[in-house]
Amino acid sequence: MTLTETRLRPLPKLELHLHLDGCARPATLRELAVERGLPPPSDAEVIAPPQCDDLRDYILRIDRALDLLQDAPALARVSREVVEDLADDGVVYAEIRFAPQLHTRLGLSMQAVLDTVAEAVAEASAATGVETRLILCALRHQPVEVGEAVAELGVANRPRGQVAALDLAGDEGRFEGAPFARAFDLARRGGLRRTVHAGEARGPTSIREALDSLGAERIGHGVRIVGDAALMDEVRRRGLALETCPTSNVQTRAVRTLADHPADALLRAGLRVTVNCDGHTATPTSLSREWARLTGQFGWNLTEFAAVTRHARRTRVHRCGHAPPCLEQRVADAWPQGDSLRAVSACRG
Ligand SMILES: [Zn+2]
Repeated sequence: MTLTETRLRPLPKLELHLHLDGCARPATLRELAVERGLPPPSDAEVIAPPQCDDLRDYILRIDRALDLLQDAPALARVSREVVEDLADDGVVYAEIRFAPQLHTRLGLSMQAVLDTVAEAVAEASAATGVETRLILCALRHQPVEVGEAVAELGVANRPRGQVAALDLAGDEGRFEGAPFARAFDLARRGGLRRTVHAGEARGPTSIREALDSLGAERIGHGVRIVGDAALMDEVRRRGLALETCPTSNVQTRAVRTLADHPADALLRAGLRVTVNCDGHTATPTSLSREWARLTGQFGWNLTEFAAVTRHARRTRVHRCGHAPPCLEQRVADAWPQGDSLRAVSACRG
């Protein structure tokens, strides 16, 4: 049986690394532009090419979407549609991340941005059954004070239940992570989980910095860890997850081609590899598509997909506290031992 994108779609999947601003549907962005009297963006302006110059070039491709995500109705619509798209792809749990400070150009406060996204995501979660959590992003290329304000916003809103973690995103190639140590300390003391983009545009020293200076519990991408055996050993021993995003990793030149992607080697070396999308538009993909590509490239089958799903379950920012049937049960039913008959039949369905 060939595991095509269509066959993989009904399987219950977990998404840990997805940027809201990289997910706005191209057609929605065009409608938002027309409604606001702005020139509608072409597909080429919102979908990053198969290979950008580097990570910074990839990040710049999201600017056109950001131009349109500056008021509450636009933010709410895109937030809702992301969850709908996840549901259509068989995703049962998703962590959606965004940088509230990027949506304040027309006067929204960061709190208003967060309230808008949180409400729309919660409504869409209730309507679709996709369980969701939010991660707030500090950005390396912004002043540390902004990152600290994002951390404080996350801590202040954590008791409401949706905001669960702080992330450090942005231009890793040109900016260090260590200056954001205070922001991550605020997050830790305030009960937020911590994930850091590292080992995407720079090598193992950047991952080391994320662990030692920022207390990262997960590494965004982390694909360049392969150059450092001692670091690989530590990440494996500590059970830290790598949030790999195969197609995006080729786009940003973190890896040269999919054939060069270390997901397969890292999984076989015993690291907690997870597979994610990064975006649905800037990176034009879905989790089913990412999985199908890994099948085509590395021959992955249900055993590998069960493994990455288990890794995501164990390292997600939200721990299950629900009465059954909860997410843990839904996933465990489909994936008891990896290539179970139930999982196979779900694939055929
Ligand atoms: Zn990312």
